[in-house]
Amino acid sequence: MAIKQARREELKAVYAQARSCQRCPELARTRTQVVFGAGNADADLMFVGEAPGAREDEQGIPFVGAAGKLLDELLAEVGLARADVFIGNVLRCRPPGNRDPLPAEIENCSEYLLRTVELIEPRVICTLGNFATKLLRADPTGISRLHGQAEIRVIGTRAVRLYPLFHPAAALYTRSLLETLRADFARLPGLLALALPEQPQPAEEAPAVPEPQAATEPEPPAQEVGPREGQMGLF
Ligand code: URA
Repeated sequence: MAIKQARREELKAVYAQARSCQRCPELARTRTQVVFGAGNADADLMFVGEAPGAREDEQGIPFVGAAGKLLDELLAEVGLARADVFIGNVLRCRPPGNRDPLPAEIENCSEYLLRTVELIEPRVICTLGNFATKLLRADPTGISRLHGQAEIRVIGTRAVRLYPLFHPAAALYTRSLLETLRADFARLPGLLALALPEQPQPAEEAPAVPEPQAATEPEPPAQEVGPREGQMGLF
């Protein structure tokens, strides 16, 4: 329980860091707010989309537009709800005009995604569309070839079953893709029931170097300034 609480607190700290991120000057200038991700901080299942759109940028929550409504429907069809899963994106800021994420932006933002995966510890990660699939597989193979095929991958420090899916926004416009997405979704409960993949050995910790003695009085502990859970959309 204490470990779970510690992970949650760390997740809130990563969120607090992301909320004022200035790594991508154009996105920092044009965003209304950072859309960190939302859902269950202990989820077995995580979704990674592309980037917030206009509605998400306004509300600060991922997948609240039409694609999000479809995602909710598909989740319900396999007996899941948003409160069961964690939903994030490759980018945490809306690209102006909904343009594609730039390689430098993807690189800048990937640390937040990896930290989120490490702290939530999901068993299955569904990448939605090309950007998330290419990033988390570190390979340019596209979603049309990969959708519906789960594989074990190490993401940061976590071994997960990675399960690429078509992006719901693409399925909104092409009926055949919707049927494919629905069929791929139907295999999710089976994937979640599989054993957790063997986890990589943690890197050897460097021997602790003794702290130099403080010459002056220690500072009083800082007040907690982290975000409230409601703001972060955590369940
Ligand atoms: N599309 C995405 O990829 N992410 C969102 O948050 C919304 C739409």
